[in-house]
Amino acid sequence: MAITLEELPIRDDLRGAVPYGAPQPHVRVALNVNENTHPVPREVADDILAEIDAALRTINRYPDREFTALRASLAAYLGHGLEAAHLWAANGSNEIIQQLLQAFGGPGRSVLGFPPTYSMHSIIAAGTGTAWIAGARDAEFAITAATAVRHIDEHHPDLVFFCGPNNPTGTPLDLETVEAAYDATTGIVMVDEAYAEFMPHGQRTALDLLPGRERLVVSRTMSKAFAFAGARVGYLAADPAVIDALRLVRLPYHLSSLTQAAAVAALRHAPIMLSMVDDIVAQRDRMVRELRAMGYTPHQTWSNFVLFGGVADPQATFASLLAKDIIVRDLGIPGHLRVSAGTAAETTAFLDAMREISRSQPPVRVVA
Ligand SMILES: *Cc1c(COP(=O)(O)O)cnc(C)c1O
Repeated sequence: MAITLEELPIRDDLRGAVPYGAPQPHVRVALNVNENTHPVPREVADDILAEIDAALRTINRYPDREFTALRASLAAYLGHGLEAAHLWAANGSNEIIQQLLQAFGGPGRSVLGFPPTYSMHSIIAAGTGTAWIAGARDAEFAITAATAVRHIDEHHPDLVFFCGPNNPTGTPLDLETVEAAYDATTGIVMVDEAYAEFMPHGQRTALDLLPGRERLVVSRTMSKAFAFAGARVGYLAADPAVIDALRLVRLPYHLSSLTQAAAVAALRHAPIMLSMVDDIVAQRDRMVRELRAMGYTPHQTWSNFVLFGGVADPQATFASLLAKDIIVRDLGIPGHLRVSAGTAAETTAFLDAMREISRSQPPVRVVA
């Protein structure tokens, strides 16, 4: 009875495609998908439960299709003079990106991105039938304004996707690059700021560029800094006209009443929810220091993870860590692995394991 995917009448452009595949094994120390490793504090969890309890009383009704309370909460959280009309939310920023590509991409259209970057950008492009154009990066994974403009002039994409700080490299995004890209295209420019809260305090972000730039979209998520990955809440800030475009493609009632209630309650406690961010940043910086002392080459990072080079055999090191009940991410970047910053104890477990592994699998010196 069972048939294979290839035997189904699937779209030709999806034949041979590979699904998103970060493994989800049960291990003691999971540092592979950049989750916030700190659970939601009890007092916040109680408030979220009370809000969900209230929402359950009217669960027989469809949710607020415009999630007005949530958009007002998100606007207040972001500041920058943004109002509810500039905000839009969905089930994770992945759905935000999907809606963006449904509205502005699609068959016959293209999106320019700069690998190595978040793998879902190209996967969602494929799912929406949008051609993915892979741009190149400069030294140390940076993208200069000139490089971005050169790719835009060459390919005339309908959308340009940036990721700052970039996953999986941690690289900061130069806002001059975003400004130059915006001026060089008549298309949509999206900056994925999933890791914005882990940037050094006081840094400008693409939110500062929004006034007067109606085609600029800044995507954020509650999955990382807010320790809310399981709730699935992503959002964007943009001109209200962009949001009108998304209303054409979103499914009605896409955000459940329970999701809306949970997110509104969590945002009320933003300072507590974000109080772990400084801890995580401290553990990240510790990883960078200690990996470097071991002889590896960690890259500059403004996120909650570290990409490090000098790994002689990434698959072997990955397997040795897994044997110690620790999982990191092998993204297929030669000589590299990526590790998420954990709690102090998880970070210690990872660093101790690496010190031991590096004795049998010594790091290779990378010539800069
Ligand atoms: C983790 C991550 C996200 C989060 O996606 P959600 O769907 O909001 O969980 C988005 N963008 C990047 C670059 C990420 O690394």
